[in-house]
Amino acid sequence: MVDRTQAPASLEGRLHRCAINTATLGFRMPIERTIEAVARAGFGGIGPWRRELEGQSTAAVARHVRDSGLRVTGYCRSTYLPAMDQTARAAAIDDNRRAIDDAATLGAACFVMVVGALPEGSRDLAAARHQVEEGTATLLDHARKAGVRLALEPLHPMYAADRSCLNTIDQALDLAAALEPAPGDLPDLGVVIDAYHVWWDPRLGEALVRGGCDRRLVGFHVSDWLVPTRDLLTDRGMMGDGVIDLLKLRGLIERAGYAGFVEVEIFSDRTWWRRPVDDVLATTADRLQSRC
Ligand code: ZN
Repeated sequence: MVDRTQAPASLEGRLHRCAINTATLGFRMPIERTIEAVARAGFGGIGPWRRELEGQSTAAVARHVRDSGLRVTGYCRSTYLPAMDQTARAAAIDDNRRAIDDAATLGAACFVMVVGALPEGSRDLAAARHQVEEGTATLLDHARKAGVRLALEPLHPMYAADRSCLNTIDQALDLAAALEPAPGDLPDLGVVIDAYHVWWDPRLGEALVRGGCDRRLVGFHVSDWLVPTRDLLTDRGMMGDGVIDLLKLRGLIERAGYAGFVEVEIFSDRTWWRRPVDDVLATTADRLQSRC
């Protein structure tokens, strides 16, 4: 049962406050058609991926998004920072600088940082975390000049080996505080909260309050945790089909001060990436308004 005493204001009739992360649609269409489909379905925001902009004019895509009445939430995502040698680490920084410039052109609310984990052959998680700190510090300078907010996205610890050695909200907030100890009203380094990655955290409530007090909550991604989960990456559920109390989680993050988009991000090669895009968007709209 949903605990209504904890429930935030319903999203019914408020799709303009909701966004589609384009991963949800399985990257099956050119970005132009994705933009049009998302706008047609009534959403207010879109979170595009870099792979969709390859070979495109970023300025033209930005114009198309604006003309469609959409806002760009987070631009996904960073090239992993840790690597076995200095040359590879420097290449990752250069790659990320270019992506940050594109995020600026897009007018993205933030550049989403999935920071990376153990380089191949390494068992040194502490070293990887140190490289993440160094790399993020370097990128923060560039992001400030570009006028783009960086957003650290902690990932579920099942990805600590291969995708992200940043695994809890507290860890992300600690890193943000270390790199930006005295932020103003709008910190340059924020945190994206993804329900799929953080729902299990026994400190979830406290960590969100802390993130709100630090004004670092800059994005909120939703999907659901299926039981059983058959693939670590591409078996996320539609909201309402799994075990995450999304209504309660939205209540927590909004009470902590988050007032941005509720962004749907579902990787699902077994189910949702096989359905027609307009069906996925319609179901997503329905579940946002009834289950989130
Ligand atoms: Zn996410």
